Amino acid sequence: MQIGFSSSSESKNCVICGKKTSHYKRYEQSNMVITIPAHAGDCYDQVDVKRLATRALTDIKQNIKG
Ligand SMILES: [Zn+2]
Repeated sequence: MQIGFSSSSESKNCVICGKKTSHYKRYEQSNMVITIPAHAGDCYDQVDVKRLATRALTDIKQNIKG
């Protein structure tokens, strides 16, 4: 898995502190990419991708019908 940092023109709420950010922590595994909004520095270091990904997958499963 590749882990990196990316920025976007789109601002979202940081998952750690809740303030707007245009920086994202980026995880890439084969052809799937997960980007999580987080400020550089402390917020970036505190991102818990395992917890966030588990929650995201649960939401996705609930939204898939049939
Ligand atoms: Zn933050």
